[in-house]
Amino acid sequence: MAKVTVKVPTPLRSFTGGLAEIALDGTTVGGLVHELAETHPALKRHLYAPDGRLRSFVTVYLNDEDVRNLAREATPVQDGDIVSIVPAIAGGSSERWTGRPADGAVAPGASGTEGVPFTPEELRRYSRHLLLPEVGVPGQKRLRQAKVLLVGTGGLGAPAALYLAAAGVGELGLVDFDTVDVSNLQRQVLYSTRDVGRPKLAAAKDRLESLNPGVHVALHEERLTSENAFDVLRPYDLVVDGTDNFPTRYLVNDACVLLGKPNVYGSIYRFEGQVSVFDARHGPCYRCLYPEPPPPDLVPSCAEAGVLGVLPGLIGTLQATETVKLILGRGEPMIGRLLLYDALALRFRELRLKKNPACVLCSAQATQKGLIDYPAFCGVPAGGAPAPVGVPVIEPEELARELASDDPPLVVDVREPEEWALGHLAAAHLIPKDELAERVDELTRAREVVLYCRSGNRSGQAARMLLDLGFANVKSLKGGINAWSERIDPTLPRY
Ligand SMILES: [Zn+2]
Repeated sequence: MAKVTVKVPTPLRSFTGGLAEIALDGTTVGGLVHELAETHPALKRHLYAPDGRLRSFVTVYLNDEDVRNLAREATPVQDGDIVSIVPAIAGGSSERWTGRPADGAVAPGASGTEGVPFTPEELRRYSRHLLLPEVGVPGQKRLRQAKVLLVGTGGLGAPAALYLAAAGVGELGLVDFDTVDVSNLQRQVLYSTRDVGRPKLAAAKDRLESLNPGVHVALHEERLTSENAFDVLRPYDLVVDGTDNFPTRYLVNDACVLLGKPNVYGSIYRFEGQVSVFDARHGPCYRCLYPEPPPPDLVPSCAEAGVLGVLPGLIGTLQATETVKLILGRGEPMIGRLLLYDALALRFRELRLKKNPACVLCSAQATQKGLIDYPAFCGVPAGGAPAPVGVPVIEPEELARELASDDPPLVVDVREPEEWALGHLAAAHLIPKDELAERVDELTRAREVVLYCRSGNRSGQAARMLLDLGFANVKSLKGGINAWSERIDPTLPRY
């Protein structure tokens, strides 16, 4: 038996009592993962599919190598090895990048500006670039000719857009359809307090053009879908994926692979981030890393799980760095590598990625030749919010009436204790969603049970679980405590 450290990623730590690293003895990777699930039974359904096979959105690494490139679960381990579980977060045989520096470079389309000299103002603006032998006037012209599409102008897209505009990228396309909310300002540094309520794209255009009037900002104020993705992406040289949901991530990946464009990937979760460059012409794609999305209830969105405000600043800036390198054709792009960043430990790790020889999209045996129905593929509606089917909901007004009656329902708050402390319904009982399965005996099956959370997603999933456990009378509060605050009790804070 070898003594091995198993690294547990943040999304799974609530099932290991918060432990980030667990020392285990074992002989193979499969044995260790099995042992981990035995010691922490709540992990089992997240790691294994009902048929007992390791779920494919869970990638297991031995040191820096994907075990799918070794002997998979039979891969032997030795003393001191590190086994890492790397699940997909919302938010992928390519060898380590060995090509000539310019192999991964994008070829900016002819925009007719190649021969146009820089004005004296532009020479001053870009002087710190012009001093770099790796950029110089030819590199700055490549930047001016480049067209970059940012999908999402939230936490990741905001810093990426600012730095790409500052760097002089000629055309920046922005895809978003949201308005600026005050809760965005903790991390989305493109926007100011006075922008609250404005469409994000209009606010972003103003900010980017005031930063650099030489940049053309093109707005795509719509949700990216299988119907419009090719038309939106086609004019651009490369795509920066700053989305916050799995359907759009798979859509961006697939459209980039099918159109032959590099996809500069970043994702964040609480204190952790991932960065890579997926370019199927030179390396793996996102599907090579994660052939299937996680079940919709495993990885909550930032809106539910929280995120350190500085984290997307760093990850989005790394995405901008990779974008500039690809345009310049300089340095070593992150193709075939996945960077993991842990802000709490301030530790970077790098894992090697290889093209999956059975990838449905980018391998020689690819079976998928076009775009698919991504919300269906990921089991969620296009907005990314999981909506369990067949869960009865209750409107805030109806719950208020029931609570005032002689036979009030049992109200359960399924949020985390930190959220409960912000304010809760007076009649409520706190059982965080992840503890519900273990504490189900605290509920009476005979009584009506109303579950609520922040916005109705988690309570919907929790209600689904109770219904599956045989509870007959379960409802989820529509719109969560935010709707309750808006319509019934404005003294409760909305967040
Ligand atoms: Zn692939």
